[in-house]
Amino acid sequence: MALKLRTGDHIGIVGGGPAGSFAALHLVAEARRAHIELKIDIFEPRDFTHPGPAGCNRCAGILSSRLLRGLGTLDLELPTDVIQAEIHAYAVHLGTELFRLEQPDPQRRIVSVYRGGGPRLHEAPPCASFDAFLLNQAISRGAGLLRQRVRDITMAERPVIHTREGAYAVDLLVMATGVNSHAPLSPAFHYQSPKTAVMAQDEFLLPEHWPHDQVGSFFDDFPGLTFGAIIPKGRYVNVSLLGEGLRLDAIEAFAERHDLTLSLESTSGSLCGCTPRIAVGMGHDFWGDRWVAVGDAAVTRLYKDGIGSAYHTSGYAMRTAVRHGISHHDFGRGYVPYCRKVQRDNRYGHLLFRMWHLTTLTPFLRRAWGNAIRTESALPFSKKMHVRILWGMLTGDEAYRNLFWLLMTPGSILSLLKGLNHPWKNHYADPYRTDL
Ligand SMILES: Cc1cc2nc3c(=O)[nH]c(=O)nc-3n(C[C@H](O)[C@H](O)[C@H](O)COP(=O)(O)OP(=O)(O)OC[C@H]3O[C@@H](n4cnc5c(N)ncnc54)[C@H](O)[C@@H]3O)c2cc1C
Repeated sequence: MALKLRTGDHIGIVGGGPAGSFAALHLVAEARRAHIELKIDIFEPRDFTHPGPAGCNRCAGILSSRLLRGLGTLDLELPTDVIQAEIHAYAVHLGTELFRLEQPDPQRRIVSVYRGGGPRLHEAPPCASFDAFLLNQAISRGAGLLRQRVRDITMAERPVIHTREGAYAVDLLVMATGVNSHAPLSPAFHYQSPKTAVMAQDEFLLPEHWPHDQVGSFFDDFPGLTFGAIIPKGRYVNVSLLGEGLRLDAIEAFAERHDLTLSLESTSGSLCGCTPRIAVGMGHDFWGDRWVAVGDAAVTRLYKDGIGSAYHTSGYAMRTAVRHGISHHDFGRGYVPYCRKVQRDNRYGHLLFRMWHLTTLTPFLRRAWGNAIRTESALPFSKKMHVRILWGMLTGDEAYRNLFWLLMTPGSILSLLKGLNHPWKNHYADPYRTDL
């Protein structure tokens, strides 16, 4: 018999981060269109209004314009108190050189948010949380919240969710537990979580000199650093580092180097601190009869816009569930092709980040890029190829595939070649100037 969702069916969503909340919001919208009534329960033990790691899904908190457009299609309006900063520029630091990338298209808004209630050592009342906002929206539209940690999920005729408080048999299980905790699926599911890398992050008070609408990006601060970012968020900045074998003391050294500690009276300046995992691959066997994984637990865009991926993966999965069915076959045809597309796009991302890494290490390539970007500053958006490529890589605002092929166009290569022939002038000697 075909596995279809019907009125009265019970959906259990494990994990109330962005992927879980978006799954509930998409389900509510799809079920309304299909004229069926579902009972939706989200299992999430955390209270996202708490400051520090207890209430936080540990992330830099940049929302891409792709995600902001997605919120609109679900009739969600981001409250102003959730928005910590509007980002209009990236200051790209390469050793002693610096270039400032202005937002190439003002229509593509980018903002920063706190996932939880802000830093652990907050000085003012806790910040408004993005994850709490999403979860509350899902609840206000009909989803139930069970503040329970799921210990195990077994498969009988239907999936059974086990918590300390009880066992819940559901008609459809949505697994949205991310990659920072053990997936509670029993071995019968054969699920394998995505490959991950470790990042280090912390929060500091916003230094007086740091523009509140500018993200700082750093590439060659120390050996092994893939990239580092300083992201303004209200009265704080978030520091996120990705690299080989990073530990929390890497943040300390980085903060000292960029004068972040000077703004506090405490010795280190650190207000929080964690070393979360970021997904860098796709999971295996992440769907089956009556169950599907979404968000980081399935696949996400490489390094950027993970929250946007949570929106899209859960959208594809829930549309498939309501419109086509909830069998292994249905998810395999309606949902998995989207995940594979993300994975293919990430291969272009890997390539772009490798090429960029090579550029950062090679003086003549740095000169070519720097000059190309400087030359583009006076051009209209449609002609800003290198600004668009770098902006897309830094913000996750455009598919890596598009950016790669843009880089390969004759116009782009020609402007790099022209850049090679110009001596490098560092017009942006003061990284904190905002009038450039
Ligand atoms: C350092 C860092 C910086 C990042 N910066 C950005 C950024 O700037 N922008 C961006 O878009 N993305 C960023 N990401 C990626 C982003 O954090 C993830 O892609 C996103 O959080 C994925 O959402 P999710 O809902 O799948 O998982 P999560 O956000 O991890 O949510 C999983 C939820 O499941 C719950 N859970 C886990 N286990 C259980 C259980 N057994 N029972 C019940 N509940 C459970 C957890 O409590 C949690 O609430 C960053 C990641 C890292 C590590």
